[in-house]
Amino acid sequence: MLAGMKAYRAAILSFDPESGSPRYEADGLLLTVPGAAGPGSPRVVRAVGPFHELIRDYPGLAVEHLPDRLIAPGFVDLHVHYPQTDVIGSPAEGLLPWLERYTFPHEARFHDPSYAAGVAEFFLDELQRHGVTTALTFCTSHPQSVDALMRAARPRGLRLIAGKCLQDRHCPDGVRDATEQSLLDSEALIARWHGVGRLGYAITPRFAPSCTDAQLQGAGELAARHPGVWIQSHVAENLDEIRWVRELYPADRSYLSVYQRFGLLRERALYAHCLHLDAGDRALLRESGAAAAVCPTSNFFLGSGCFDFDLAARAGFRHGLASDVGGGTSFSPFKTMLSAYEAGRASFTGGGPAKAGVSLAPGRLWWLHTAGAARALGLEGLVGNLVPGAEADFIVLDPQATPLLARRTRQAASLDELLFALIVLGDERVVESTVAAGSVVD
Ligand SMILES: [Zn+2]
Repeated sequence: MLAGMKAYRAAILSFDPESGSPRYEADGLLLTVPGAAGPGSPRVVRAVGPFHELIRDYPGLAVEHLPDRLIAPGFVDLHVHYPQTDVIGSPAEGLLPWLERYTFPHEARFHDPSYAAGVAEFFLDELQRHGVTTALTFCTSHPQSVDALMRAARPRGLRLIAGKCLQDRHCPDGVRDATEQSLLDSEALIARWHGVGRLGYAITPRFAPSCTDAQLQGAGELAARHPGVWIQSHVAENLDEIRWVRELYPADRSYLSVYQRFGLLRERALYAHCLHLDAGDRALLRESGAAAAVCPTSNFFLGSGCFDFDLAARAGFRHGLASDVGGGTSFSPFKTMLSAYEAGRASFTGGGPAKAGVSLAPGRLWWLHTAGAARALGLEGLVGNLVPGAEADFIVLDPQATPLLARRTRQAASLDELLFALIVLGDERVVESTVAAGSVVD
């Protein structure tokens, strides 16, 4: 029974699968076992519980003791652009000038497979250094940018979902694709990579203004033929962009409705930003099962606005957190959670009507970047949590990683205080190791 079992003793954070409330074992035991699908299948969690109770069932088991450490689920990043790793921190007046001046010229370089491979390795190193074990990422419009990333991700054991960007208009030579070929390329990439190991494919229209009707139509048909494949795009990020969409699609009720008309709203469809929605849009997200990828560091950086967490929770649509590098300013889930807290507190939306300022609980912020994000992806119970049967993605955190953190966390009188100190003061120095499906990858 003990063959292949690994055991870790430390403080352990997980989440109640029903309510999403944080669960904490101050002296816990995490047991992982090889996956049932045989060699190469992801390791899975066998049990989590109080050390002294659980260990009685496993006499003689070798346990790795990690005193003063906190084991937590690996983070899930719902929206990131790996080709923009080198665009992070580029100054611009707003989204559209930023795309033209920095992003498109940089993405043009990914026609070169060796260039793409170099960025892919660096990008994956960054994810792992920051404790991210599942990510949904854009590639560029070049199919070879997808191949480069998937080849690099597979041996690392990460759960990576990615797709070739679809953009057949309103973007320059070098990144613009051809309608029919773009759809053929997407279908070939699905066949090559979707479901290979832990990899998944996402049909990836950049955003409605960058795609002709024929391309959106084709993307929707592809999504209908492959219901297990993800969809990723952007919606309602800033007001100039929304005005542009209204000019391009005058007959549609809203920006989000454009995607609905083309069959691109369904479960496993993730829309970045969702800042400027109305009640009809929120209902559409809930009813379709599509989800919002909330990108607060990017939204502050580009002056786009603040996501309304209160209305999202009331409307009951799925949402979770994302870095949106390179519009986002950090790969760190700690920075994203802090920024989400600040966006929640804000009473402005960025040009829309004022919103209620709310104080998101530390456990809720953490859930939105782990189990809640997994739920948005349709991977609830599989990643983002440490529950029996889940894939064994976890991180080992050192709450004493810096002098100030050590001083502050020593005084934490509750789980909320511990988690919030980590959110406010933490960064990659806190992440001592990252374990993806049971393989140490730091
Ligand atoms: Zn984005």
